[in-house]
Amino acid sequence: MTRVWNFSAGPATLPLEVLENVQENLVDYHGQGLSVLEMSHRSDSFQEVIEGAEALIRELLDVPSNYQVLFMQGGATLQFSALPLNLLKNGKAGYLIGGSWGEKAYKEADKLTAKATILASSKDDQYQKLPVLTDFNSSDYDYIHITSNNTIEGTQYRKYPDAKSPNLVADMSSDFLSHPVDVSRFALIYAGAQKNVGPAGVSVVIIRDDLLEDNGQVIPTYLDYKTHASKHSLYNTPPTFSIYVMRLVLEWIKNQGGLAAIDQINQRKAAKLYQAIDQSEIFINPVLPSDRSLMNIPFTSQDADIDQEFIQAAKEKGFINLKGHRSVGGMRASIYNAFPEAGVEALVEFMKDFESEVKHEKN
Ligand SMILES: *Cc1c(COP(=O)(O)O)cnc(C)c1O
Repeated sequence: MTRVWNFSAGPATLPLEVLENVQENLVDYHGQGLSVLEMSHRSDSFQEVIEGAEALIRELLDVPSNYQVLFMQGGATLQFSALPLNLLKNGKAGYLIGGSWGEKAYKEADKLTAKATILASSKDDQYQKLPVLTDFNSSDYDYIHITSNNTIEGTQYRKYPDAKSPNLVADMSSDFLSHPVDVSRFALIYAGAQKNVGPAGVSVVIIRDDLLEDNGQVIPTYLDYKTHASKHSLYNTPPTFSIYVMRLVLEWIKNQGGLAAIDQINQRKAAKLYQAIDQSEIFINPVLPSDRSLMNIPFTSQDADIDQEFIQAAKEKGFINLKGHRSVGGMRASIYNAFPEAGVEALVEFMKDFESEVKHEKN
């Protein structure tokens, strides 16, 4: 079996050990004579899976006891709708927009409630840096929303902005559980699993208890956080298989030494790739250095033909999904938790070889 180096932005590379574990137990789950795919979500065995997943998230992130951990469907995208419906009371929703996902989150809140405001945006800088919050009256806002890692543009907060509000909300879809986070700084954190912590199909929502109070709005039952909190994420059939695989990934993260250890590895991987880009005479990374993401690293030769040639040549050598998002162009290497360091090193070598060939052709 040959596995490629898969730089996909999501669904993304999963740990090989996890895939092998899933395969080994797929038909006969731990000697029970049935697959986890066929199991009732009300069975004791599945109960153990979902409780284990929650316990691991609590342990890895050190989630305070006054927060609920929920599993929902609909991706991070459905959270764009759930947030304003659940969190708005009499105030407004403030959005810091650092990329296209933040834009979508804002637009959905605006569409549903007409109470969303853009507090800061880096759109005029082509999202090549994080938005900078200037003075605003925080008491006018029921919550302030940020995107912790801009998946498409390749920026990431390492230090979160001072929102001067107890209700900071973060879309952490593309850097969830990639480094330690002080959960108590946030009112709500949400993330689709398919970038850093599992397969597509499940989203994790970590919400502070007081936000579960009734806000007087009519909220579709599925979108109401109270529904999922009161039923421990078993109100209706949850995405059982996704939760099961996510649980295995969470165990894998724990076995790597937890978030501090995985952060060290992620920093090392990203540093190797940024160093290769910075030392290169043909590739550049367009992002403000202090705002660079450790997860998604865009780069370009600034020549569309050469970029295309690079992507094609890389593919032939087993480096796949390096094409940048259509809105940005160039290349993008997504190197989430499970992407092996050896794959980054191999890419760096390939970039050097490619560069010397390009220079050779020019001479
Ligand atoms: C991928 C992504 C989304 C969308 O996630 P879906 O699960 O496809 O809805 C939202 N926000 C960020 C930051 C993302 O990276």
